[in-house]
Amino acid sequence: MKVSDIPGELEKIRQADRFRQVQDLRMVTAARGVRRDGKGYIVFSSNDYLGMTHEKEVQEAAAQAVSYGTGSGGARLTSGAVFEASDLERELAAFKHTAEAVVFNTGYMANLGILYALAGPGDVIFSDELNHASIVDGCRISRAKVIVYPHSDMKRLQELLETCDVSGQRFIVSDGVFSMDGDIADLPCLLALKKKYDACLIIDDAHATGVIGKTGRGTAEYYGASGADITVGTLSKALGSQGGYAAADEAVAAYIRNRSRPFIFSTAMPAMSSAAALAALRLLEQFPERYVGRLKENTDYMRALLRAFHIPLNDGRTPILPIILGDERKTLYFERICREKGIIVSAIRPPTVAQGTCRIRLSITAAHAKEDLETAAAVIQEAWKAVAER
Ligand SMILES: *Cc1c(COP(=O)(O)O)cnc(C)c1O
Repeated sequence: MKVSDIPGELEKIRQADRFRQVQDLRMVTAARGVRRDGKGYIVFSSNDYLGMTHEKEVQEAAAQAVSYGTGSGGARLTSGAVFEASDLERELAAFKHTAEAVVFNTGYMANLGILYALAGPGDVIFSDELNHASIVDGCRISRAKVIVYPHSDMKRLQELLETCDVSGQRFIVSDGVFSMDGDIADLPCLLALKKKYDACLIIDDAHATGVIGKTGRGTAEYYGASGADITVGTLSKALGSQGGYAAADEAVAAYIRNRSRPFIFSTAMPAMSSAAALAALRLLEQFPERYVGRLKENTDYMRALLRAFHIPLNDGRTPILPIILGDERKTLYFERICREKGIIVSAIRPPTVAQGTCRIRLSITAAHAKEDLETAAAVIQEAWKAVAER
C-alpha cells in the first residue's frame, strides 16, 4: 500500500463499520467513568476486574514509590532495576507457585518476549486460533513454525502434535481465559498432551489471574491442575497497574533475562507501577472473598439478570459476557443505544474477532453495585429488542 492510499483505505474501514477512534473517558472507579463534558456512565468495558486501581492501599503504594522517580531511567539490566520490581517478581512467583517470575512492561511484551526468547527455527508452536494478538505476534517474531489449531479442539491438537514432524521443541500456547469469549481453556487436557508429546506448555492467564480459582490464582487453581512450564500474566487487568510477567522455573527465567529483546532493550517500568501491582497482589491474597468472591457474585448476578431477559449468553463462568450479534451495524447500534442511556459496553468487531461474529462484550467487576447491574441489564434488554426489531 502506498501512503497516498491511506485516505481511501480509511474510507473502506468506515464503509465496513469498522472504524475505531479514541474517546476521552476518565474512570472514577472500575465501574464508573466520566467524559470530558462531565457526562457520567456505568462502564462495562474495563479489565480492572477487582477495582484495584482505585483502592486506597494501591494508590498510596504508588504515590510513595513515585518518590523513587517517575521513570526508571533504564532497562532492568541497567539503572532500571528498581527494588519494587524484584519484590513483585518474588511475590508473583510465590502466588503462582513457581520458582521465579520475570516482569515485563506490558503483557503484550511478555508474550513477545517469551516466544522470541524460547522458540526459533526448527521448533513448532501449536497455538489456539482464538489466542490473544500478542501471542499471534510473538509466534511471528519467534521464526518458529506455527500451527494454529481450531479453538479448544483438543482432539485436533493431539492429531497435529502426533503427525507434525518436529526436529526441535514443541510448544503449546493457549489463553487460560479467552479474552473475547470468556471461556476457559481445557488445562487438564493440555497438560496431558504436554506430557505425552514432551511439549513446553505456555498458558496466558491475563484474564484469569485475580479472576478464576477460589483465591484468584488463575487457570491452574480453577482446575486444581498445575504443571504449565510458563504462566504469562498481566499487571494491567485484575492487578490494577501496568505491566506483564512470566512465571517459570529458575532456568527459563534466567534465559529470558538473557535472551529476550523486549526485556533487555526497553526501559523498565517506574517503581510505582510495580509497587501498585504488589499492593494489589497483597490485597488479593489477604482478602480473596472481598475481591474474587465479590467478582463472582456480581458475575453470577448479571448472568442471571440477562438470562431472565432472554439475552443469549454462553454458559461461561468468567466475568466476560459476550452477546453475539453477528454484523457490525447491529453491534454499533446496540452500543449506541446503551451509551445514550448511560451504559458503556464494547462493540467488538473484526479484526479483533472473526467476520460475522461481531458482539457486545461486557466485563463485570467487583466494583459494580447491584443497582448498576440491574440498571444495565434493563438497558441491555431494551437495546436487544431494538436491534431485533430493526
Ligand atoms: C490483555 C491481554 C494481554 C496483554 O496484556 P497488556 O498488559 O494489556 O499488554 C495478553 N494476553 C491476553 C490473553 C490478554 O487478554
